[in-house]
Amino acid sequence: MGSESLSQSLNEMLKFTLLGSAASVLAPRLGTLAIAGRKSLSTPHYVPLTSRGMVPHLAHDVMRDSTSIGSLFIGLEDFIEKEQQPKKSRSPIYSVPTESHESALRKFICLPDDLLLILGARREPPIACPPSNTPTSIAILTSVGFTQLEGAQYVEAIRKLNPDIVVGLADLVVGQNPGVKRRPKMVDRTHAFTIRGTDELYGPDTSAEIRSNAAYFAPILPLENTEQQIYLEDLESDLRPFISGLALYEPASLSIVPEALGDLPRLLFSGPNTPHDILREVSLGADLLTIPFLSLSSDTGMALTFAFPSPSNADLKPSSEPLPLAEDLWSSSYTTDTAPLVKSCTCYTCRNHHRAYIHHLLTAKEMLAWTLLQIHNHHTMDLFFANIREGIQRGTFDTDTQSFQQTYAPDFPPATGEGPRLRGYKLPASGPFQQRRYPPAYGKLDLAAEKFAESQSSLATPDTGAEGLEEHGFAEKVRIE
Ligand SMILES: [Zn+2]
Repeated sequence: MGSESLSQSLNEMLKFTLLGSAASVLAPRLGTLAIAGRKSLSTPHYVPLTSRGMVPHLAHDVMRDSTSIGSLFIGLEDFIEKEQQPKKSRSPIYSVPTESHESALRKFICLPDDLLLILGARREPPIACPPSNTPTSIAILTSVGFTQLEGAQYVEAIRKLNPDIVVGLADLVVGQNPGVKRRPKMVDRTHAFTIRGTDELYGPDTSAEIRSNAAYFAPILPLENTEQQIYLEDLESDLRPFISGLALYEPASLSIVPEALGDLPRLLFSGPNTPHDILREVSLGADLLTIPFLSLSSDTGMALTFAFPSPSNADLKPSSEPLPLAEDLWSSSYTTDTAPLVKSCTCYTCRNHHRAYIHHLLTAKEMLAWTLLQIHNHHTMDLFFANIREGIQRGTFDTDTQSFQQTYAPDFPPATGEGPRLRGYKLPASGPFQQRRYPPAYGKLDLAAEKFAESQSSLATPDTGAEGLEEHGFAEKVRIE
């Protein structure tokens, strides 16, 4: 296949159409991202995050029936079991029988065909790993501990799992700012990952049978323009035919996207803290965003209550207090509140249940609480983005953003209640072999029996007599004169 027809076939995998003269950087822009066989996404939009293949608290049928989720981001590290050298210890996801056009990833987690799947090496947000990345691999946290994911292993996973979009490997430093010496290394390694990855997936030496169908999103590092100049230039020239999008890790990177790459969709992993951050990122030209605070709000019992554009002044009570971005359903003020989470909301939760019920479910630690909150919060975010797109189209995005900032509090209210039991991947790790965070819920039965037998001698049992009871302090014999 000639290089021209090759680049044509690569471009056919993913079509990103921008509306208007939107290729210009640093302005909000509207687009449509389409991949054959999948629901197309209108951008700007958000990509819901998964944990081990599902959106937390949402079973697949709930997701299908009660949300309008059309895309998912999935971290490969969730599916890898530690070492993969001996064949028999390979992770089960690699053993899914598939036809060449099928995705083992989709089959393994039983997702419908029209859902757009984006695969990255690490979950989002990633947990900092004590071992560091190497020139040929990155450190990951699997369900059984830390390990290294080799670049070649990642390419193999992409081939086998066949996601719709894959985020290229990047040498990122999680949880701290990289030092001056580390930065050039980050660029060199990421550059090498991108060259090797795209070459092995789509290069001219790759036979048609093993050429990947996944669209490649090349990472842009959270560094200055000048620090990654050579890499960016290579993305514009030699690597350009293989790249279908860009993955960015901080909003500032939006301003260093070279003009020649301006028509590519930009997926942002910046971990916005509030909807204000999201609006700022959209205003700088982000197309797809990941929003860790979405599931986090549900986990902490918060119902998102903001709307874009913000309600007009006429609808608001005459007070100077800004509106809260969310409401804490743990608060005892909801004990008897039979209003829906948000009055005008049309989500499943608000149509069928009220605040008092969700407050009760939370205090009873009933899992349904988090499911109902997750449905409402995703619906709120769907609406938020739909209205952002409408605002851009109407040309009122900037003024709407300004009034949103004036109407709503700058931050979420502090969380007060407990969330569901935390899992390892939600907590920063201090190092390998750290102590258990929770006492084991179950012990060995024979161990318990042994303990019981030991304590028998000092215990009062049902077959004991009145003297035995007195001896153990259970009762006193009353002597009748
Ligand atoms: Zn709702």
